[in-house]
Amino acid sequence: MPKFHIWTIGCQMNKAESAEITAHLAQMGYEATSKLKEADLVVLNTCVVRQAAEEKVLGTLGYLKGMKTTNSDLHILVTGCFVNPKVEALRAQFPYVNLFFRPGDYSELARWLQNQSGNKELVASLSAQKAKPTAFVPIIQGCNNFCSYCIVPYRRGREKSRPIEDIICEVQRLATLGVKEVTLLGQNVNSYGRDLLTRPTLSSLLVELNNIDGLARIRFLTNHPKDMDQDLVEAISRLDKVCKHITLPIQSGDDGILRAMRRGYTAEQYRNLVQTIRNHVPGIALSTDVIVGFPGETEEQFGQTLDLLEEIRFDVVHIASYSPRAGTIAARKYDDGVTAEIKKDRFNRLEAVNERIAGEINSGFLGKTVEVLVEGVKGGKYYGRTRGDKLVFFESGKDCTGQLLSIEITTTSPWALQGFIRHA
Ligand code: SF4
Repeated sequence: MPKFHIWTIGCQMNKAESAEITAHLAQMGYEATSKLKEADLVVLNTCVVRQAAEEKVLGTLGYLKGMKTTNSDLHILVTGCFVNPKVEALRAQFPYVNLFFRPGDYSELARWLQNQSGNKELVASLSAQKAKPTAFVPIIQGCNNFCSYCIVPYRRGREKSRPIEDIICEVQRLATLGVKEVTLLGQNVNSYGRDLLTRPTLSSLLVELNNIDGLARIRFLTNHPKDMDQDLVEAISRLDKVCKHITLPIQSGDDGILRAMRRGYTAEQYRNLVQTIRNHVPGIALSTDVIVGFPGETEEQFGQTLDLLEEIRFDVVHIASYSPRAGTIAARKYDDGVTAEIKKDRFNRLEAVNERIAGEINSGFLGKTVEVLVEGVKGGKYYGRTRGDKLVFFESGKDCTGQLLSIEITTTSPWALQGFIRHA
């Protein structure tokens, strides 16, 4: 049986797509290996959002080129954001790559695999695998927003939603296989459906998915604040399977920086939005993304971000230091004027605030009982997540993966909770 190895970096979308590619390859009779050197076929699922990620991709391609000189039968496939629309230019630059396919373009992958097999009717039975309790489901690809720092719209293209029937079908199938929680994915998930003729919305999709038997939880990410409408907020509040947790990137607390980032909202509008969400869904867990050191960011402007974090008190803040990406508006328009030392200092200060606030929020769980969907074992302990996306560790004498358990919390930290199973 030929073996394949998938190398994945980047966002949840890439992880979801790698799972899909794995299923395609298994169907075509390939066996997965975690060892690159054992593989007959290597798939690179790439990310270029940051310069460092793109360099990693180039380094790995260079390494594979070396492998191919000693093993000319090795097949190399590349997907993800590195594969821009100019595929011909990529082919010329990396002639040793067998196939470049756009993210999510599984028909291109299937065509290539069928050509390799030489048998269009090839059907290799999938070995019966135990389904994982959680699954990612991409529902919209690409982005129309062109935030000035971001390369996604250039690499992934404009927004393209999947038909609502396809998504419902896929989630029904996953639930039948034993999946209890799905996370709907999109770079801009809450603008789902605007490009489709029937104009479905994320909230109408959530209503449909909420009716699926066997499914216990629904999440979705990442949201754009300007696309959070009242319908969606009400759907989160009303639908019992929709987790009371939302990812809502702010990026900066300063209006000047938000304007330069082309984010389409002010700090005040963001504050009001959070207030509306909290009014409708009391206790909702909130995550956000922040970029420090955007070109020209002054200490005072950075201070606005710090203040906003103190005021809103997010459960989780994902922090990134600005790095210019060639081709983006910010890279063309601004000098990367903030030094690496200043970026590092701001990153650390923001991280300290995040850590303190997350620690305080999590300490509120001490002695409480939470519902945990068990995902597996890490470091000898079972782990899973609450509906509010808190990571929880506990011990169990028997395999409880895939179960929804009540866990009483005995220890907390900014990053995770620990506890024991409470039997009814
Ligand atoms: S919303 Fe902005 S940051 Fe998010 S993917 Fe689109 S362009 Fe990039």
